[in-house]
Amino acid sequence: MNEEVLHAEVLVLGGGPGGYSAAFRAADLGKQVVLIEKYPVLGGVCLNVGCIPSKALLHVAQIIHEVDEFESHGISYGKPSLDLPKIKAWKESITKTLNEGLAGLVKQRKVTLIHGTGQFTSPDTLAVNTEEGVKTIRFDQAIIAAGSHPTKIPIFPHDDPRLWDSTDALELKEVPKKLLIVGGGIIGLEMATVYHALGSEISVVELMDQIIPGCDKDLVTPLFRRIKKQYNNIWLDTRVKSIESHEEGLKVFFEGKGAPESEMFDAVLVAVGRRPNGKLISAELAGINVDEQGFIAVDKQQRTNVPHIFAIGDIVGNPMLAHKAVHEGKVAAEVISGLKSEFDALTIPSVAYTDPEVTWMGLTENQAKQQGIEYDKGVFPWAASGRSLCLGRKEGLTKIICEKETGRLLGAGMVGPNAGELISEAVLALEMGADAEDISLTIHPHPTLAETFGFAAEMITGTITDLYIKK
Ligand code: NAD
Repeated sequence: MNEEVLHAEVLVLGGGPGGYSAAFRAADLGKQVVLIEKYPVLGGVCLNVGCIPSKALLHVAQIIHEVDEFESHGISYGKPSLDLPKIKAWKESITKTLNEGLAGLVKQRKVTLIHGTGQFTSPDTLAVNTEEGVKTIRFDQAIIAAGSHPTKIPIFPHDDPRLWDSTDALELKEVPKKLLIVGGGIIGLEMATVYHALGSEISVVELMDQIIPGCDKDLVTPLFRRIKKQYNNIWLDTRVKSIESHEEGLKVFFEGKGAPESEMFDAVLVAVGRRPNGKLISAELAGINVDEQGFIAVDKQQRTNVPHIFAIGDIVGNPMLAHKAVHEGKVAAEVISGLKSEFDALTIPSVAYTDPEVTWMGLTENQAKQQGIEYDKGVFPWAASGRSLCLGRKEGLTKIICEKETGRLLGAGMVGPNAGELISEAVLALEMGADAEDISLTIHPHPTLAETFGFAAEMITGTITDLYIKK
């Protein structure tokens, strides 16, 4: 094997949204950048086996559901016929378009892209195992953006192809008759939405006493009520004890509230969180501290304990979200380039692209209570939103939490169709220091779902006219 040595002013390890954003920002600020990516394409989990392909499949699910539900409103197309290879090809064409876009951006910015697996060999060098041999990169500064991988439960039978992780679920190889989802978090429920629409009978098992445990219960309840009717089972406060591979299926043993002792499934998707990749990059050889779980601690400038090495994205901590990684990537690139940047965002919004979508940002009501913060709450039910009713839906709600004394917005959440598109206004309002009055006096276009954010603020200011509040 030949060994090539290259130099990088800035080395970026990992080409997901955080890594490529860091590389591009550093290049735009005049740095000579080398970007390392182990897969043949850029975009990481998010673009290739995460956010983007799942949203394509969720759109398919939405069409199937909407067509089905509008039968009772006078439109019927009959039962959908599904051409799985064609759906898969469409989904892959979207990722391919975006992959090609990124490859173009790499060229335009003159970033050197090396495909291979990188491991630190010292505080200034990284060895990359490529198809052409090992390349050593000597770097002045580095940004680690090496991401995370799905958590595996060791006692499960991992050599059985019917036991899926999220990547397997997105491959759309088949639609199992009975699908068990282990983990009622965001991945589990998004994939449940897809496979339910495609025709699987869904059961969900969740360890905690509610689905999407990090979110306020009132925001999750409309989703819970809807899927409780659609799915075979949702077992809360329940864990999977073991899974046995049988010819006729996977026999799953449960322990918890209301679940049977065991049940047979055609496939099981395990979506119980993700683990950071901190232990897979020989960080110790660079002197970087990695904790037990694989996280790398950083300061507000994304700097690790080794001053010229930065880290961003899933590998530095939760929430493991692409938009957080992108923001952190830009901060790291700017600090490296001498700008006075730091991570000072007030919130990182969360969205579950389920049906209905669930989203929240800032302080949750649970957190406000736990922290003893005095707050006012405004809740606007979408049953009173003309736009929501025109979509054939009335279960949504918009909630905002404002500081009692000042009226300043502290947090907001929404549940309903397209709620994920609406949360950005709340994030901007929070970042701009808006109070309930600012939001209530902002003219929102009518009829939109977005106006429910204004209405929720009017519930606090007492100026609402779309509902009657008894004095
Ligand atoms: P998650 O943390 O959102 O949900 C995992 C769920 O599994 C939790 O509710 C947890 O209580 C439950 N759980 C854990 N162990 C269990 C067990 N043994 N049995 C039953 N339930 C168990 O994790 P995820 O859904 O796997 O997603 C991983 C990461 O990817 C998260 O950080 C998530 O935010 C991110 N992600 C985000 C999006 C999005 O933004 N829309 C989409 C997909 C994934």
